[in-house]
This record gives sequence, C-alpha cells and structure tokens, in this order.
Amino acid sequence: MNMDKQWNPTIYCRYCSTKTELFEVCEQKECLEKMNWEIEDKKNKDNPNKEDNLTQQQLQTEITNLENKPNKTQEEQALLDSKQKELGELLKRQSDSNANTAKHSDKIGLYVGCGMVGIILVLIIFIMARIRKKNRK
Ligand SMILES: [Zn+2]
Repeated sequence: MNMDKQWNPTIYCRYCSTKTELFEVCEQKECLEKMNWEIEDKKNKDNPNKEDNLTQQQLQTEITNLENKPNKTQEEQALLDSKQKELGELLKRQSDSNANTAKHSDKIGLYVGCGMVGIILVLIIFIMARIRKKNRK
C-alpha cells in the first residue's frame, strides 16, 4: 500500500491548513467561498477601468482649455460641444457599469454554486485518472 501514498502527497488547505488530498483547498464551504472571492478579486484587478478614467481626464482637460479660450472659432465651439457630449456619454457608461457591479454582487451566490460544481467536476476527473492509473499497474 506504499504506492497509494505516492499518489497522495499531503497537501494542506491554504485557508485553514486542513490536510487535503488533491487540492490546496479543502472541501469546507468557507474555504471554497474564499477561493471564489479570490478568483473574483483577481478578475476585477485584471480588468480595471483605467482607460476610461484616463479618457475622462483628457476630455475634461480639453473641455476646460476650450472653455477658457476667449474668442472661440466656430470649429473650436463645435469641438467643445462634441467633447462635452463625449464626456457625458462616458460618465453615463461609467454609472451604467457601476449599476452592473451592484447587480453583479447579487449573483455572487450563484457564482459560488457554479464554482463548486466546477470543483466537483475536476475532482471527478482527478479520481477517474487515478483509478485508470491504478488499473494499469
Ligand atoms: Zn480549508
């Protein structure tokens, strides 16, 4: 039975340090939830609204510059109008995405559920792979 030990290196849950067999996360609900939070967190960090913020700043600077300019030409006035419109749309888009974020947090329970289903599927695949390995020997 030493062989079994080789296939089961001891792994510890990275959240509560319980011994686990296959994953660095144990099967406790809180640990699975923590892992889900981490995944969500990472997604949010990978996808910040940096670009929008930069554009917004640029637009605001350009608008201020144009507004402060005395004796604007027709072209400059048109440019100012279009910039203001653009900024308005950008702000609207941002408030929309904030609304989506609020909705999104309602769905976290659902994501946790989906995450667990995913983990169970991966577990099954691992177990099947191990059983196959065993049968071959
Ligand atoms: Zn744990």
